[in-house]
Amino acid sequence: MPNIRFKALEAVLTRTIPEVKSPGAKISDYFAANVFDKKKMREYLSREAYQSIVNSIDNGEPIARDTAEQTASAMKGWAMSKGATHYTHWFQPLTGTTAEKHDAFFEPTADGAIEKFSGEALAQQEPDASSFPNGGIRNTFEARGYTAWDPSSPAFIMGRTLCIPTVFVSYTGEALDYKVPLLKALSALDKAAVDVCHYFDKGIEKVNASLGIEQEYFLVDIALFNARPDMYLTGRTLFGHLSAKNQQLEDHYFGSIPDRVYAFMQDFETEALLLGIPLKTRHNEVAPSQFECAPIYEEINLAIDHNSLLMDVMDKVAKRHNFKVLLHEKPYAGVNGSGKHNNWSMITNTGKNLLSPGKTPKNNLMFLTFFVNTIKAVSEHADLLRASIATVNNDHRLGANEAPPAIISIFLGSQLNDVLDEIETSRISKKLKEEALLWQGIPKIPQILKDNTDRNRTSPFAFTGNKFELRAVGSSANSANPMTILNMIVADQLKKFKLEVDKLIKKGEKKDLALLTVIKRYIKESKAIRFEGNGYSDEWEKEAEARGLSNIKTTPKALDVLVTEKTEKLFEDTRVFSRREAHARHDILLEEFYKKLQIEARVMGELVNNIIIPAAITYQSNLVENVKGLKDIGLKADTYAAQMDIITKLAEHINFIKTNVDQMVDARRKANKIEDTREKAIAYDEQVKSFFQPIRYHVDKLEQLVDDSLWPLPKFRELLFIK
Ligand code: ADP
Ligand code: MG
Repeated sequence: MPNIRFKALEAVLTRTIPEVKSPGAKISDYFAANVFDKKKMREYLSREAYQSIVNSIDNGEPIARDTAEQTASAMKGWAMSKGATHYTHWFQPLTGTTAEKHDAFFEPTADGAIEKFSGEALAQQEPDASSFPNGGIRNTFEARGYTAWDPSSPAFIMGRTLCIPTVFVSYTGEALDYKVPLLKALSALDKAAVDVCHYFDKGIEKVNASLGIEQEYFLVDIALFNARPDMYLTGRTLFGHLSAKNQQLEDHYFGSIPDRVYAFMQDFETEALLLGIPLKTRHNEVAPSQFECAPIYEEINLAIDHNSLLMDVMDKVAKRHNFKVLLHEKPYAGVNGSGKHNNWSMITNTGKNLLSPGKTPKNNLMFLTFFVNTIKAVSEHADLLRASIATVNNDHRLGANEAPPAIISIFLGSQLNDVLDEIETSRISKKLKEEALLWQGIPKIPQILKDNTDRNRTSPFAFTGNKFELRAVGSSANSANPMTILNMIVADQLKKFKLEVDKLIKKGEKKDLALLTVIKRYIKESKAIRFEGNGYSDEWEKEAEARGLSNIKTTPKALDVLVTEKTEKLFEDTRVFSRREAHARHDILLEEFYKKLQIEARVMGELVNNIIIPAAITYQSNLVENVKGLKDIGLKADTYAAQMDIITKLAEHINFIKTNVDQMVDARRKANKIEDTREKAIAYDEQVKSFFQPIRYHVDKLEQLVDDSLWPLPKFRELLFIK
């Protein structure tokens, strides 16, 4: 059987790519071989069509009908030459995974059949997909949803299907996916950043955000995974006592990669590279059987598509190696969880990284402008950034002394911190108004910032030399969510900045001085969010409170900010979300939150009643039999005191567990009756989830007491160590 399964899996991904299989194959020989990228477009399209597509990719210009027609036919030709028989619009609905519905190129005709793929089929589809989350936007009378081609993300082949990245919108034009708001935020950022760039360089025409996503994950043997209903139903272990050895010795981090894992990594990386995902780095992470991979950064829309695709590819390839990839933020209690670091910057069409300090003072002023505006944006909208990473899974991680706390703060590193302090306290005196002296107001910024910028792992938002790194994103999240918010708030901030600077210039201020004046004020205004110390410490929680920073620990409350007046105005100003869309998203997120807890609570109940308590009772009965036997042969009570002790302890734990599970079921019933989604989510969080920990504690005690041969669930020591 394994062979058949293996074959089936192979068909899902690459078929025969001779370049990969040849000995001595170089990655550059086959990188992006399964992508209809610019190089292939040039080969397959007429010069005019190619130019028009490139224009639309680079400048967002609409695509003419005949260009779409030509492109479709070129794509079909290319895809069929690689064995594709079907095509699909590939999109990212709000379920957090990717969606696809395959159609064959094949069409029967009067005298046989042909393969067809029209410009219209490329440009737009109407998937019959009325059950994606929509937050009430798609009522039945308007149940149609459309997918529309996103030419800025190239088509690719998975298995035998040509996949076309698309956006997903409702009949009434509202966004039903992650991509639409992201593209809107990026366009707002582009406009605002280009306007600000013009203070320094009139030649800049476009600003793209760049993103490099570091992806953490766990691997577990598929057979063990399948023996744990909690894992395959919820993605994490609901029970399980810590293994005697776990990460205490820190011997896994950056250690040598186990052979079996190495084989898996090579395999999925090859598949990813064929799909144009520029994977560059791999290593062990802190926890046993935890790993990380990272690509080279790309234009942000593409980077996010690639991350979604990567998660899918990893999952598929893992099956070939009898592994399961755990992308859950916290698969094992007591062991580090997983995140997805989002390394973000802004890059101009002239190739300049706007967050890279320059050589000359003038360049430094440009760097400072974007650097300080980003800090100010995050300081103004920290709650929104917090909301963008809020999920039921991530609640396990944030503030659990392993991931950044739920308090958003910014780490700059001592050198840049000093630079900002210096500007803040420098006096922009009349003297400074003379050109030559102005530059003394801007301290020198060392070209190569010390490596220590990256080493504060406790900060949720850290400057790391030439980019900011948002570290609080969950490992299973779609980065589009936090990145939409980040790009939007920076766009809005840059727009405000420009208005303020222009006002000063109009009053007769010199441009550079006007820039510096506003920057200086922003530094002062956003001081509270800068924190260089240990984000995991209790002192920080206290200090953050004194500074007035918020610390919202749970998702339902963190999400409140999505529907405040301030946010609504921001969404409107930047055109990222309409009011209706924002409310719909708020609803979807709350619903996802309580539904996941509902599932976990149910699974917990089932496991306890049908698996755990019966195992404990069996063991208890064995002990009772044993005691009876010892008594029968005339032994005294002190000879079976140990058995009696265990029997009593088992009874105590069983009773506690049973009572608490019953109470949890009651709490769930009550919560289910609540109409208001927010209140329901809060009830699940505070009334239902609160049972998880105590129940788990007693189950884990049972695990330690019960005969190993009777314990029905694989233990952490088996799950966590890959042999
Ligand atoms: P770390 O010390 O965090 O491991 P790396 O240099 O390995 O730093 O980078 C981590 C990620 O950041 C990679 O995906 C890398 O491509 C990305 N990165 C580097 N420079 C930029 C940039 N200018 N914009 C966005 N991402 C970047
Ligand atoms: Mg990093």
